[in-house]
Amino acid sequence: MATKRDYYEVLGVSNGATEDDIRRAFRKLARQYHPDVNREKDAEERFKEINEAYEVLSDPEKRRSYDHFGHRFGQDGPAGFGGPSDFSGFGGIEDIFDAFFGGRVRTGTRRTARGSDLRHDLTLTFEEAVFGVQKTIEIQRPEPCGRCAGRRTEPGTQPTRCPVCGGSGELRRAQQTVFGQFVNVMACDRCQGEGRVITTPCSECRGQGYVHGKRQLTVDIPGGVDEQHTVRYQGEGLPGYHGGPPGDLYIVLSIQSHSVFKRQGTDILYDLDINVAQAALGEEIEVPTVDGKSTRVKIPAGTQSGRTIRLRGQGAPHLGRAARGDQVVNIRVVVPQQLSEHQRNLFRELARSFSSPGPEQHGPDKDRGFFDRVKDALGGDGATG
Ligand SMILES: [Zn+2]
Ligand SMILES: [Zn+2]
Repeated sequence: MATKRDYYEVLGVSNGATEDDIRRAFRKLARQYHPDVNREKDAEERFKEINEAYEVLSDPEKRRSYDHFGHRFGQDGPAGFGGPSDFSGFGGIEDIFDAFFGGRVRTGTRRTARGSDLRHDLTLTFEEAVFGVQKTIEIQRPEPCGRCAGRRTEPGTQPTRCPVCGGSGELRRAQQTVFGQFVNVMACDRCQGEGRVITTPCSECRGQGYVHGKRQLTVDIPGGVDEQHTVRYQGEGLPGYHGGPPGDLYIVLSIQSHSVFKRQGTDILYDLDINVAQAALGEEIEVPTVDGKSTRVKIPAGTQSGRTIRLRGQGAPHLGRAARGDQVVNIRVVVPQQLSEHQRNLFRELARSFSSPGPEQHGPDKDRGFFDRVKDALGGDGATG
């Protein structure tokens, strides 16, 4: 998803801007970037961005939520006004202002909107990501007010009929234009199209219907998740507006690194250091697996640094399936940095044997001769382990 600019920045106002400041800034920018008047390439994009910012910042409830939670973490457009289709039906620039400042009534009732999505970051251990885990998380979000049960009025009181629109929620206004008379139907701005006004707001939530709350949620993280994977919980986001559905909760995962293992998709990588004698002669070595167990790995004689050995089915599971990837053992041959006198002598002897001319030094069997003589020099037969 694209990075969104800060809404205040889009409108060029400060975080403390008043509703009037915001409205003025919007009017100015909307006139400047309206696609009917501005033919520049990115005018429409800017216009949409401006509308979206205004949509949120002009609504005290949405503005508070934006100040608190930032940009919604979803993939769809802003709540309420969606994409271009919301204004493409209007004619000129004046109609747009009527629609935006009056809030156009589309179905004769107040407009509902889906609540914003919430993001929660969750860190898992390496093993939790591989095998899955159940976690209890605490999310902060508005919860319905307990005192008024979300009805926004003080218990025992009722909303009263709106004195401006008489309860219809609509205002009609005739407009003379060169094309004739039009009747604009707009939402009543006193009652926001609800037809009723709350004269005695709930004292607990001050008429909002919601209070800030904390909520514990038990989440099941499946095995095989990886860095930046997202788990979506439908309907666990912020409450909707005017009866709209709630948004979703997105849990964004980050995975702690492990002291010996690394992840690469479903493969688990493990670096195994061996010494030159083990590399030359071969050996069976015990390596740890992510299950917390260990398994014996046969290092063939003549193993070179960088060789990998796959332990089938010892990796992380494919998401949603039982099948597991592999553990990949990456072999690193370590040349000793400190030697005892005895070891130094053995290496000198080795060196002499490597430098003495023999047919195998020049023929295609050069490597075979090399390892045979390493075995001889170390006095073993390669069947250690
Ligand atoms: Zn009204
Ligand atoms: Zn309340």
